[in-house]
Amino acid sequence: MEYVSTRNKGKKVSSAYAIATGIAPDGGLYCPTHFPELTPKDWDALLAADYKGRVALVLGKFLTDFSAEELKNFTEKAYADERWGGPDTAPVVSLAGGKHILELWHGPTCAFKDMALQMLPHLLTASLKKIGETRTACILVATSGDTGTAALNGFADVPGTKIMVYYPVHGVSPMQKLQMVTQPGRNVSVCAVNGNFDDAQSALKRIFTDSETVEGLSAQGMMLSSANSINWGRLAPQIAYYISAYCDLSARGMVEFGNPVNICVPTGNFGNILAAYIAKQMGLPVNKLICASNRNHVLTDFLKQGGTYDRNRPFFTTASPSMDILISSNLERLLYYISGQNDEAVRDLMAQLAENGRYTVDADMQAALAALFDAGYCDDAQTGETIRSLYENEKYLCDTHTAVAVRVYEEYRARTGDVTPTVIASTASPFKFCKSVAEALGGRVEREDVSQLDVLSGLTGQQPPAPLAALRGRQPRFDRVVEKEDILSTTSLLAEL
Ligand SMILES: *Cc1c(COP(=O)(O)O)cnc(C)c1O
Repeated sequence: MEYVSTRNKGKKVSSAYAIATGIAPDGGLYCPTHFPELTPKDWDALLAADYKGRVALVLGKFLTDFSAEELKNFTEKAYADERWGGPDTAPVVSLAGGKHILELWHGPTCAFKDMALQMLPHLLTASLKKIGETRTACILVATSGDTGTAALNGFADVPGTKIMVYYPVHGVSPMQKLQMVTQPGRNVSVCAVNGNFDDAQSALKRIFTDSETVEGLSAQGMMLSSANSINWGRLAPQIAYYISAYCDLSARGMVEFGNPVNICVPTGNFGNILAAYIAKQMGLPVNKLICASNRNHVLTDFLKQGGTYDRNRPFFTTASPSMDILISSNLERLLYYISGQNDEAVRDLMAQLAENGRYTVDADMQAALAALFDAGYCDDAQTGETIRSLYENEKYLCDTHTAVAVRVYEEYRARTGDVTPTVIASTASPFKFCKSVAEALGGRVEREDVSQLDVLSGLTGQQPPAPLAALRGRQPRFDRVVEKEDILSTTSLLAEL
């Protein structure tokens, strides 16, 4: 399996190279040149395997320069029962009205980012060895909250790596901030940015392609890499959980094997839903991919209103902060595939996005999007109502991001009459967004600290996940705040880690 940049398909690289370097030098994202198909024999193996085995099989299709034994070893470490509270890594909870909630937050930082970021350190360090790289990999991460936490947890004290995380100073939940600024580890650092997620992500993309910075770090024995979902090593492990959910639903008789499901995903950077698209291309029976957004609904408008992507609009901070994004990076990969791997067209669209903040795709691409996707959005009040009604009617407690997806799915089902069973990606523990969830249930949160957990426990009788409860009494280690224009200069701090 070979990989090319979305902006130049002439130069092919290996999966190890794509993972080690994160982003292509032309600013494009690495993509496999074709999608491997799941054979009947693969499906038999998938149905019989546990979660770890399913991931190893799916990764084996894409990461062909890794041996089956290596991948098996990595999945056993990444998804070790003690890190996930048991063997049920990605359980599916079936509710009324065709909703099948795929819980992706049982890992060490309680959001779905763990699904890939517990795996990435293994893939990355092995990739560096495979390409003969001896410099220290410096991982720069822009985060809307959860990626930073999960990347810090995954890479803390991993030999041969350093990690620096940038988060929007006013854009993360108190729990997310606490998780990041108290993260132990010798090789980790955290920086708040006076700006939003898009500012941080754009600054990092410029750093990755800034030859002066790259050469300067190299002279000090360091290379840059990415743990954002622009890195193929982030996306590949995510494909597996949609396939695993389908195996679970068919084993339980919820879906007859071979019949389709819809997949509804609360979306920000478009990584998670792109993984579902790729699973579909591999042969997973998927009817519609439903893209759910909050008040920052640039994607809904793009998918539902004539194929124009326009980021020139106000940016809102919402109760689902991990989706507060106006430039969804992974959309570039989708454009690459639906244009028939037309790197020139993607280059042109991305140049328009950089220059004018907008672009319009052609009629063929619009038709492809309409066939694959549906989309919708809701505001914070509707998110809160959904949390309350799901809890009152079905005794199911969900976080704000998951609630956005549930709401958009219910609206989709009412609007279209489509009753296909639907897998809804649940992306965070409700306790991670305690304040919003408790308030949706009529509770009051007075203090922006760990005591929030008690408020939600008091309202529901449910206990917070152990990793969040363990934040009690932990001391902050990082308090640096930088202006968004000064992010580049912070790379000099890497030498001190
Ligand atoms: C990151 C995140 C999302 C958005 O996922 P993308 O892959 O960026 O689209 C949704 N919900 C939560 C809780 C997240 O952490």
